[in-house]
Parts: sequence; C-alpha cells; structure tokens
Amino acid sequence: MDLIVIGAGPAGVMAAIQAAENGARVTVLEKNKVLCRKLRITGKGRCNITNACEKRELFDNIPRNSKFLMSCINNFSNHDIISFFEKNKLPTVVERGGRVFPASQNATDVANCLINVARKLGVRFICESNVTAIIRNNDGVCAVEATCRGETKRYEAPNVLIATGGLSYPLTGSTGDGYTFARDLGHSIIDTKPSLCPLVSDDFYISELEGCSLRNVNINLFIGSKSVYSDFGEMVFTHNGVSGPVILSASCHYDESVPAKIEIDFKPALDEETLDKRILRDFSQVKNKIFANSLDGLLPKKIIPVFVMKTGINPSKQVNAITSQERSRILYLLKHFDINIVSKGDISEAIITSGGINVKEINPKTMESKLCRGLFFAGEVIDVDGYTGGFNLTIAFSTGYAAGTSIRF
Ligand SMILES: Cc1cc2nc3c(=O)[nH]c(=O)nc-3n(C[C@H](O)[C@H](O)[C@H](O)COP(=O)(O)OP(=O)(O)OC[C@H]3O[C@@H](n4cnc5c(N)ncnc54)[C@H](O)[C@@H]3O)c2cc1C
Repeated sequence: MDLIVIGAGPAGVMAAIQAAENGARVTVLEKNKVLCRKLRITGKGRCNITNACEKRELFDNIPRNSKFLMSCINNFSNHDIISFFEKNKLPTVVERGGRVFPASQNATDVANCLINVARKLGVRFICESNVTAIIRNNDGVCAVEATCRGETKRYEAPNVLIATGGLSYPLTGSTGDGYTFARDLGHSIIDTKPSLCPLVSDDFYISELEGCSLRNVNINLFIGSKSVYSDFGEMVFTHNGVSGPVILSASCHYDESVPAKIEIDFKPALDEETLDKRILRDFSQVKNKIFANSLDGLLPKKIIPVFVMKTGINPSKQVNAITSQERSRILYLLKHFDINIVSKGDISEAIITSGGINVKEINPKTMESKLCRGLFFAGEVIDVDGYTGGFNLTIAFSTGYAAGTSIRF
C-alpha cells in the first residue's frame, strides 16, 4: 500500500482520488458503515459544494489562516472543484451569493460521485474500520492500527493522511480522533471551539421568540462596545438564542470570554428619517388602536409583544397619544434591537470546528507534517475554517487535493 487515508469524508476521498490518479495504491479506512456520512447532510441535504466567487474573494471568506491555504487553493481552486464535478457527470448550479449546488439538489449525488470516481481508480474502502493509532519508525510513518468488527488489524504504508474531520455533529463520525493521533506524533493542537454555530442569549424573553425567522435584516455583532461583524440576510430565533445564516457567520467572530450583543436592524433599507416617516404613516392609519396592536406592518407578529415590552411604552396606550420621544424609542429599537449573547451553542450542533492541527507545523504546499515524514493532513482537522457559502467544503477539497498529489511512492 502507498497511502492510507483515515476518514472517508470529502477531504479524504478527494486525496485518495488524486493519489490513485497518479498511480498510487490507496486504502481508505472509515469507521462508519456509510462513506461520506456528513457530506450527505450538508447544505440541508442539498450540499453547497463550493462558491463561484472570484478566487481572491475566497480568502475573505476564510477568517482563520487563509494565508496558509493560498498555495493549495491556487492549485485546486473553487473553479477547479466545479470542473471536477462537471467532468465527472455531476452538473452544478450557481445560486444566490455564488453558492454552488449539484443540479439534482441532492447531497447524496455529490457523495456518490466522489466514491464512484475513487472506486473506478482502484481506491479500496474499508468501512467499520476504526483507526486507533498511527505507528512511526525512524523514517516517518509506517503503519496504522484499526479495529474492524472486533478484530485489530495493522495496515502498512509510507504515507498516512489524517482526514478525520473536527468535533461537530459527532454522530457523523467526526469525534476528534485525528487530534489525538497528531498529538501523539508531536503536533500541537490549537484549542478547538464550535464555529458557525447558534449563539445563546440569557435575555429572559428569548424563548418567547422561538421559531420567529427574519429575512432581509442587518445584524451587527458587538464585542463590548466595538462592532466586530456585520451582515445582511436571514436569521431565526431558537429556544435559547439566535441562529440562521448571518448568525452562524457572526459566530466565527465571537469569543465567549467577553460580553457581547447582537443588534438587529429590522429595516436596513430605510434610513432613520425615512423610517420615522413610515412609522408616522402607519400610526396615522391605526390611530385609534392600542400600541400593542399597531406594529403589524413593521414587524413579524411573534416579535411584537417583546418589542413593545422593550420600548417601555404602555402596550394599552392609544396610538394617537404616543409622544415624539416614545416614537424615537420605537425608531431606535427598529434599527438597534439588541440581544445579549452569553455563549456559543454546543460544539455538537456547530457546523464546523474552529482550531485543530497547528498550521505552522504543516507544509502549506503539500499538507505534509513538518514533524513526521509521510504524515499528511486534510480538511477540517486542520486549524482553518470558513464562513457559510461552500467555503468549508472548498477547504476540504483543496487540502485533500494537495495531500493526494504530494505523497511519495
Ligand atoms: C449540518 C452540516 C451542514 C454543512 N453544510 C455545508 C455546506 O453545505 N457547505 C460546506 O462547505 N460545508 C458544509 N458543512 C461543513 C462540511 O461538511 C465539513 O467542513 C466537511 O465535511 C469536512 O470534511 P472532512 O473530510 O475534513 O471531515 P468529515 O466530513 O467530518 O469526514 C471525516 C471522516 O473521518 C471519519 N473518521 C473519524 N475518525 C476516524 C477514525 N478513527 N477511523 C476511521 N475513520 C474516522 C469520520 O467517520 C468521517 O467520515 C456542513 C456541516 C454540517 C455539520
């Protein structure tokens, strides 16, 4: 055997394909019964394969260690990923924000495409094979040990790729084993944390908002008094906080050790003057209603009771008795509705894990360990992560490509 890949996720399978295409004999050991299990649930079952943006924009969407990825993304970019799938008879479509999906809208087709290409090139997959250790000698790595249906097996090869993923969604198989293997071989691990995850609030009313989704809002994440991230799009309230695309991206910028808040601008398209005129117009149409029943044209129904409470205005007050000072408060809250944030959601419900194998110890061109010859890394196990929009699979495919084309045999 020339290469053993630990983990049949997108990074591991892409590496196996590239190595096999160059003539290497490759075995992929996967602890699940099913190959590419996480890939099959990506993009809500549709799989956002990559993003069709300009190559340089990719790096703006990778908040951690994007420089480390420059070389491998230059060699196998988002556009190469699209070509790869198109060439292998998986047509793709580009949707809002450059997000690329399979035309079939089915993530399983992406997984099957990768696995079929690998199999055709002679890659051997061994499922239900849980790798427990990587063995090295004086020259570098030489074998791995795995438990397969109760039996311990040893597989020898001069190249081993750790593509075991991170810690999120552990039921898909990513339980952090790669960090242990790497640590045992001398690597340092940057603290792992949930990223692209919901944010938890301690606001007493938060559970009342559960299920309320907002479209076309602007959110601003403040750490202390400093705005650190702003985004436009969709979000949703959960039983204990906030989630949805703009919140998941904001979570990459949130460090739990400091107080934070999210401010929502419900009407980003309207400046304060225009919005004030709009409120006046709406109020003139409902002037004999009570305040609590006057905001239907401005806000989703579910949020109105909490919004009214936050204004401090008596909900039974007649609309035509609302003072200009009170209207200023309404205006302010429509532009700056604040949610106190106290922590991130659990890593098990995060889309990705931030942190991982220290990039300083990996050759950025080849993904080979600088500490142990023949040891390679690819995918989420490395300390790199991207925003939503197909950037994390881009990282998995590009690093997998770099590792697969760099092994020596
Ligand atoms: C719900 C959800 C939706 C997502 N949607 C998107 C999306 O649409 N677009 C996007 O870009 N990103 C998305 N992501 C992120 C993306 O799925 C991951 O970044 C990507 O799968 C990482 O690929 P990987 O190959 O590094 O790891 P994984 O896909 O996690 O694969 C690792 C594999 O290694 C195996 N393994 C682990 N330990 C061992 C061991 N000891 N022995 C043998 N095998 C082992 C695991 O079983 C697993 O199959 C999503 C993530 C989640 C959770």
